[in-house]
Amino acid sequence: MRVEHKAGETVPTGGLPVRVLVVCAVVACLLPAQARAVAAEGATDVQELTIVATGDLVVHQPVWDRALANGNGLYRFRPMFAAIRPTIRGADLALCHMETPLGPGAPSGFPIFNTPPALAYAVKWAGWDACTTASNHSVDQGRAGVRSTLLALERAGLRHTGTARSRREAGRILLMDVKGLRVAILAATYGTNGLPLPDPWSVKLIRPTQIIRNARRARRLGAELVIVNLHWGVEYVHQPTAEQVRIARQLRRSGVIDLIVGQHAHVVQPIRRLWGKFVVYGEGNFLSAQTSACCPGPTQDGLVAVARVRVAGEKVTVRRVDYVPIYVRRPDFVVLPVGARLRQLARAGRSGSAEAAALRESRRRTIAVVPADPLDAPAPALVEGSAARRHRARFAERSDTQYQRPRTKPPKAMRPSAITMMPTIRLQKTAIRIPTMTMMPPSVIPPRPNRRSGIAIRPPS
Ligand SMILES: [Zn+2]
Repeated sequence: MRVEHKAGETVPTGGLPVRVLVVCAVVACLLPAQARAVAAEGATDVQELTIVATGDLVVHQPVWDRALANGNGLYRFRPMFAAIRPTIRGADLALCHMETPLGPGAPSGFPIFNTPPALAYAVKWAGWDACTTASNHSVDQGRAGVRSTLLALERAGLRHTGTARSRREAGRILLMDVKGLRVAILAATYGTNGLPLPDPWSVKLIRPTQIIRNARRARRLGAELVIVNLHWGVEYVHQPTAEQVRIARQLRRSGVIDLIVGQHAHVVQPIRRLWGKFVVYGEGNFLSAQTSACCPGPTQDGLVAVARVRVAGEKVTVRRVDYVPIYVRRPDFVVLPVGARLRQLARAGRSGSAEAAALRESRRRTIAVVPADPLDAPAPALVEGSAARRHRARFAERSDTQYQRPRTKPPKAMRPSAITMMPTIRLQKTAIRIPTMTMMPPSVIPPRPNRRSGIAIRPPS
């Protein structure tokens, strides 16, 4: 039984009428965890999901200059993500961190960033599903920057959390459906570089008790896995600070948070296990112009954290966290999966090249900090997208420079669903809103590989 995920069109095969399948889909996606557990029990269903999370996207002038050159005068960031794309889009859920504001007008770099919104389209194209936006640069462009960032992400079809345009939006929790698993994502930053918040609710700040309270709210809403992204640490310092460790422990002790990921240091920090739960202290830079010319050498390194989640009935466990070491090549700013690129160079007889030497050095640096086994190359599961994923990718195939032609709106199905982020209190009182046909995840009818979508979550009755 296969249903193509396509705007306004649901194509069942196997003889079932469309309407029946759609009703099945709605019912299945609204099944509470218990009911699903019973269903799973019969089939002894153990599911393995992959969630990836990535580090700082920091577009300095050399990066946007290169994007301009890539697009012959329009910002085109896609080539920078082409090599890492299989890793990102092969995951069941991919989380990006948008460190700087996206907004119209001339781009600017440190210390007050303004990044071409075209970046959001490239991020979507590469396969990310959602971005966290709480960082020390969230309010570089004030209230307008918070608004334009979220608008750009939404136009590209990305979910987001961490900053808000209204008190109401700030009260929402981002819930995503990942192959039937309800995942909540929370995000916060240590601060905003001393810049005042335009409104007290504009940016989520790291207040552990508040984060725990929101994690509990997410659980009440049916979240089965809670991920917290923290923008924290000290720049260029690999070791987690005492503050980071204290916060991680406090969050861990709450028992309601499954995975902590983070960034800000611009260099990788360790992946550690705290009483059975994983903390990715720092993913390093994902994209930046930082090198040893300006900053410590390891700023050119980063990692893609790869969390393996096991779902067995009601039991959801982050089984392990691997990582893919990455490296930002100059001068084209292509983000390279280090192991895979080294093998590629070896096959081409270029193991002795300067690029290979730089990659080996980068890999050595990263492994020295992150004491887990690195995934040298994307695992097969990370490379091969299902038919549904390929379809989604085709759907997203549009120039990341399209943002600069605002008359061309993205297809309706790519726009964010208001359903994804619901005010929790109202959600508990009001009836569930049924997604429209175009938002209908086809693959809630099991078994369905590699389904990722943001859909409504029904509160526990
Ligand atoms: Zn930062």
